[in-house]
Amino acid sequence: QPCIYEGKSMIDNDVDPENYPFTKGRDIHSLICVPFLAKGVPLGLVLVEHSIKDAFTDENVRLLEIICQQVSIAIENARLYQQMQKLATLDGLTGAYNRQYFQDKLETEFNKAQQGNYNLSLIIFDIDYFKKFNDTYGHLFGDQILKALSSYVMKTLRKEDIFARYGGEEFVILMPHTSLELAAEKAEELRKGISELAITNNLVAASVNISAGVASYPKTARRPIDLLNSADDALYMAKRGGRNLVKVAKPLED
Ligand code: GH3
Ligand code: MG
Ligand code: MG
Repeated sequence: QPCIYEGKSMIDNDVDPENYPFTKGRDIHSLICVPFLAKGVPLGLVLVEHSIKDAFTDENVRLLEIICQQVSIAIENARLYQQMQKLATLDGLTGAYNRQYFQDKLETEFNKAQQGNYNLSLIIFDIDYFKKFNDTYGHLFGDQILKALSSYVMKTLRKEDIFARYGGEEFVILMPHTSLELAAEKAEELRKGISELAITNNLVAASVNISAGVASYPKTARRPIDLLNSADDALYMAKRGGRNLVKVAKPLED
């Protein structure tokens, strides 16, 4: 307990099993215990036991402390690295994945879909008349919309879907094991859901519409780049068709 809760090293050369239930019936008579500390906060501990009494010296404790210090630094570095990697894949404003991460995932998910012989669909969507929105309500409120929209989308997706901010107000969703028809339904659901999101600050309530394009492997594309391009062409058709619409890419000829 002193080790875990207070981060203190300890030595006991005459172990009473009543004080250490984990030693009961195991013939342990000495122990030393040293914590792993990250900036003073315990991360874990090392316990060394011995079957004879008076087995350990303060010198042993000091040596173990030096080893534990090194291990603590390694653990802390590994955590920081993990944290940095996460930050490097996410968009700072919205918490969606960033474009670089999406590009990498598009390749790997496409390969997986090809090898596993299953559908991989892609939705791309873009906010309608967002420039006007910013001009009317201000860029900060525009940012709030991007955040609210993203958290709404993330809530409605499955764990295996990959949602990324592709550019300013343009987003993509990669959906493994999803047919073109199902992805189109999902896009329609999102279009409707987003249009019904009312975002308020202290002064005004507002909402935005999106236009979306949907494409799918193998129905409308046979390469990763075509999956993105055919979805983008469909998005363009949705914009041309008047906006606040979902359009589906044309199936490839056999
Ligand atoms: P369309 O319906 O054709 O998509 O019109 P639009 O005005 O949305 O499209 P356009 O590409 O002309 O402009 C996109 C605008 O999105 C321009 C920019 O002001 C805004 N925008 C892009 N990124 C951000 C952002 O991070 N925050 C805010 N507030 N606005 C952004
Ligand atoms: Mg736009
Ligand atoms: Mg745009």
